[in-house]
Amino acid sequence: MPDGTAGDVSTRTEVVRLEAIHKSFGLLEVLKGVSLTAREGDVVALIGASGSGKSTLLRCTNMLEVPTSGRVVISGEEIRLKPAAGGQMAVADAHQLQRVRARLGMVFQSFNLWAHRTVIENVIEAPVHVLKEPKAEATERAEALLHKVGLYAKKDVYPAFLSGGQQQRAAIARALALRPQVMLFDEPTSALDPELVGEVLKVIRDIAAEGRTMILVTHEMAFARDVANHVAFLHQGQIEEEGPPQKVFGTPDSERCRQFVNARK
Ligand code: ADP
Ligand code: MG
Repeated sequence: MPDGTAGDVSTRTEVVRLEAIHKSFGLLEVLKGVSLTAREGDVVALIGASGSGKSTLLRCTNMLEVPTSGRVVISGEEIRLKPAAGGQMAVADAHQLQRVRARLGMVFQSFNLWAHRTVIENVIEAPVHVLKEPKAEATERAEALLHKVGLYAKKDVYPAFLSGGQQQRAAIARALALRPQVMLFDEPTSALDPELVGEVLKVIRDIAAEGRTMILVTHEMAFARDVANHVAFLHQGQIEEEGPPQKVFGTPDSERCRQFVNARK
């Protein structure tokens, strides 16, 4: 939460719980036992150098990558895994994964809108075809979401006619349309021209202010400091420092963390 007090930790429900996540690609061990929890209303910022494993950790959260070992628990339900070839794990129950994954809204660096659908068609696609919402109802909600992200006027436009910032805001509306319990953002502004970053950060800030749970990978240190109530600094596949933003950015215990954040002030 913006004021850095997301309430008494013990009373808030765990939405995402990552336990001792390991992930290797061949001989390369990218995640070396990462544990991280996001409770209801938490805004968790993941920071760290390029290659430290931030995207892989987010991708393990929704099983775009399956951890080599460890547990992923979403709203109290563990995603079941089974041993697979080469010492890796595989998803044990595709239906369970589909159900659990629907609780996670994901926004990537690249916007991934459907090019042949208008903005509003992009937003209602999953509610109508996945959640089986009536089209009229989905359209009404989509319009409200497009208002929220400041894109209502562009609702009937095709993505190619939007700026990068507008496309990313449409992608955020599309993710919200699935009524996720947590939003996962992977560097949502890093593909944008500098003058478009602010409008996307504003939308994310507004969503955070509504008390929405989110895990956010970002290079925008000032934004992370401002909007997150918990910051984790990843270094070579391990959480090297974590805590409230004042601590991680102000007086970190780790020298590496201090250097990292000071270099980006
Ligand atoms: P970050 O998001 O912090 O920049 P990543 O999670 O993208 O880091 O990557 C961490 C490391 O894992 C990098 O060395 C990257 O090259 C490697 N990596 C990521 N995905 C794969 C993959 N699918 N296959 C092989 N190596 C990968
Ligand atoms: Mg990344």
